[in-house]
Amino acid sequence: MGAIVAIVGRPNVGKSTFFNRLIQRREAIVDAVSGVTRDRHYGKSDWNGKEFSIIDTGGYVVGSDDVFEKEIDRQVELAIEEADAIIFMVDVETGVTGMDEDVAKLLRRVKKPVFLAVNKVDNAKRAEDAVEFYSLGLGEFYTLSSINGGGTGELLDALVDKLPDVEEVESELPRFAVVGRPNAGKSSFINALIGEDRYIVTDIAGTTRDSIDTKYNRFGFEFNLVDTAGIRRKAKVKEDLEFYSVMRSVRAIEHCDVCILMLDATRGFDGQVENIFWLAQRNHKGIVILVNKWDLVDDKETNTIKHYTQKIKKAIEPFTDVPILFVSVLTKQRIFKAIETAVEVYNNRNKKIITRKFNETMLPIIENYPPPAYKGKFVKIKFCTQLPTPYPQFAFFCNLPQYVREPYKRYLENKIREEYDFSGVPITVFMRKK
Ligand code: GDP
Ligand code: GDP
Repeated sequence: MGAIVAIVGRPNVGKSTFFNRLIQRREAIVDAVSGVTRDRHYGKSDWNGKEFSIIDTGGYVVGSDDVFEKEIDRQVELAIEEADAIIFMVDVETGVTGMDEDVAKLLRRVKKPVFLAVNKVDNAKRAEDAVEFYSLGLGEFYTLSSINGGGTGELLDALVDKLPDVEEVESELPRFAVVGRPNAGKSSFINALIGEDRYIVTDIAGTTRDSIDTKYNRFGFEFNLVDTAGIRRKAKVKEDLEFYSVMRSVRAIEHCDVCILMLDATRGFDGQVENIFWLAQRNHKGIVILVNKWDLVDDKETNTIKHYTQKIKKAIEPFTDVPILFVSVLTKQRIFKAIETAVEVYNNRNKKIITRKFNETMLPIIENYPPPAYKGKFVKIKFCTQLPTPYPQFAFFCNLPQYVREPYKRYLENKIREEYDFSGVPITVFMRKK
């Protein structure tokens, strides 16, 4: 699990430019793979080997100019509550504004690390202008130019230095997080599992209690169910709800072993659901997809499930080895099957393959179809092993690791998935120098 960093600030200071720069390096890999560029306001980044989730709060502010001010205040408050560190971005072109002062006032009271980032400092002259931001009373600031990347290294050095240490804690109970968009049926699901009305489920905003963990025992297996549904009480308007649900989901995903990603069958696997999916994948978490409210789909001829499944698989390519279940919390259809599947995914994620057996299986496969020669050089893979990490990662030792391209690594991943059950679990393949 990793820390969560929120970027706050008024519109047009350059938050999304900075955000895109941050997630670019790693995100580019995902995008190259799927061939799709996604509009995302949260993602995973890393600096100096430290990973963190980053949220561009600006992506959630909608409305006309006069509602901006209130919206921003509220979202800054939410960000302060949910994030581990905050980057407050201001704009040297416009200088200090009243809105900046309001946000600074909120941030001065915060105990968490706050980084004042003066953006659009594209040249030395502007670096001099930046001194006026001392008046915000937040102390030292970082000057940067998000457009050309200047200064971002210093800011990130300081940021990761202050981030809480978040190594994966073992020996705790397994944690399953139920995530998804508001109204997907998450709290109804947990309710139905627990079989008592611990949560008040209703269509009216403002009634579900705050998220809590529920210790749960099923199939002789004890685990914590993490509910992210308790977001309504704090959300005052519709935009808040989506924003707050994202904050909660990011946190829940960071802290769980398996994500139970629930969607409303009548709304489909939309962009927001897809975002949550990729965040879970990037965090190396197990994933089970539940298509809920299946009772509302009338046209249930034999092919409906097949077509629905194909559509989802298309959206999650190339990581398609994920269980997709069609459930109805209302009629309790397959809800226990859902938990059983989550347990299987949990076990897959913890699977350790004996090195000798792994070599016996993989080396003949590799011999049969070796990595293609690259620049006239032949790659010889001699040995492979699963790494002792909390989630499945595999290292293949060879003479020229840099010459093994992405498609061959994907080939190896597919072969591993054919030979062993890693359903629902992202796996990583590394080439190492031998
Ligand atoms: P947001 O509303 O805070 O997310 O701001 P955007 O990232 O959308 O940026 C607003 C405008 O400022 C865009 O036209 C950007 O190209 C521009 N911008 C962002 N960063 C910089 C920078 O470092 N220097 C300059 N000169 N312009 C920038
Ligand atoms: P959450 O925001 O994801 O926690 O969603 P809720 O559990 O509050 O459910 C939102 C609405 O969907 C409520 O009115 C539920 O009664 C309804 N709902 C949940 N599951 C189902 C289902 O399987 N079928 C139908 N028809 N409605 C459902």
